[in-house]
Amino acid sequence: MTEVFNKMNALRWKRIVIKVGSALIAPEGKGCSTRYLLAIARFISECKLQGVEVVLVSSGSVAAGRAAIPFSHQPLPINVKQAMAAIGQSQMMMIWSKLLDWPCAQILLTHDDLRDRRRYLNIDNTLRTLLSHGALPVVNENDTVATAELKVGDNDNLAAMVATVVDADALIICSDIDGLYSANPKTNPDARFIARVDAITPEIYAMAGGSHHSVGTGGMVTKLQAAAKATAQGIETLIINGQKASSFDALLKGEAAGTLFCAQPGHLSAKKHWLLHSSKASAEVTLDAGAVEALLHKGASLLAKGVTAVQGDFDKGDAIWLVSSTGTRLAKGVCQYSAPELNKIKGIHSSQIEAVLGYCPSEVAVHRDDLVLME
Ligand code: GLU
Repeated sequence: MTEVFNKMNALRWKRIVIKVGSALIAPEGKGCSTRYLLAIARFISECKLQGVEVVLVSSGSVAAGRAAIPFSHQPLPINVKQAMAAIGQSQMMMIWSKLLDWPCAQILLTHDDLRDRRRYLNIDNTLRTLLSHGALPVVNENDTVATAELKVGDNDNLAAMVATVVDADALIICSDIDGLYSANPKTNPDARFIARVDAITPEIYAMAGGSHHSVGTGGMVTKLQAAAKATAQGIETLIINGQKASSFDALLKGEAAGTLFCAQPGHLSAKKHWLLHSSKASAEVTLDAGAVEALLHKGASLLAKGVTAVQGDFDKGDAIWLVSSTGTRLAKGVCQYSAPELNKIKGIHSSQIEAVLGYCPSEVAVHRDDLVLME
């Protein structure tokens, strides 16, 4: 155990997102099966026991619900797919809950949820709260409400977006193939296995038989799109064979498994990039000396207690400037409270927020993950 712990730490993984596809959940295409999920659940358990936070992105709702609604015509009409997803989603959750000793938390998302700043913040907060309480968030697209315009479309890209939301260190995509090959190994005997990809170029997309514009659920192209999204945010990505327990054993020993897509250097996480370059902040919040010290030197979040003044108007989820008592702009961050709310709770201890406001959506005014320090 200790050895595993050291090696995992050597990989610097504190938080990972694991994506499991329908082919692993419902290999026969009719109902969930534990055939491959046992080894995956064991891997998740090992990670969690070693203190690695895990978010699972699990497909399979449609495949798991397929048997319950006999329908022979292809392609399946959207309403039939949505009905299958409604049945299969709960079966899929049930199987993960049975296989794991941690509370499994269902999170169903649409693309719109991730685009809307307020909902994004709520998702972010919920995921963070679940992780801090040791639960396992199990994310899927909200297939029963999402139509094509609302959809991310495939869970590979969804997993990359989730990895960005939670600032994961690694994204592990469990597939039914060992990783990336130079050509389709099923049809081309000369196909070479690619163990490591430093940059995802058009040549790499060509190996998967597509371009990054290609659409479709699953397949290697969407996995490469996901890897491109994640690695651009500094999240290393692995495509592994989730049908082989040996892939997980290797990872636990700190050994190579599947294809590694290296994280791009010098990145700023998507959220921090947005904060620094795209967010408009006009309001300012003044910090006391203790809060300035905690912010600059202790990597802390900003508590309401450390706020002495609020200038300007803003809503929950807006970006604001955090300034010193002399007016120096120290950081820019996303505020968990609106200006009128922050005015009411400034200077008070977090435990008193509920008594003052009547609710307490967040213990902190600006979370550390949601702020960027000015140089
Ligand atoms: N959300 C779909 C499902 O649960 C799967 C999409 C995908 O695997 O890419 O059936």
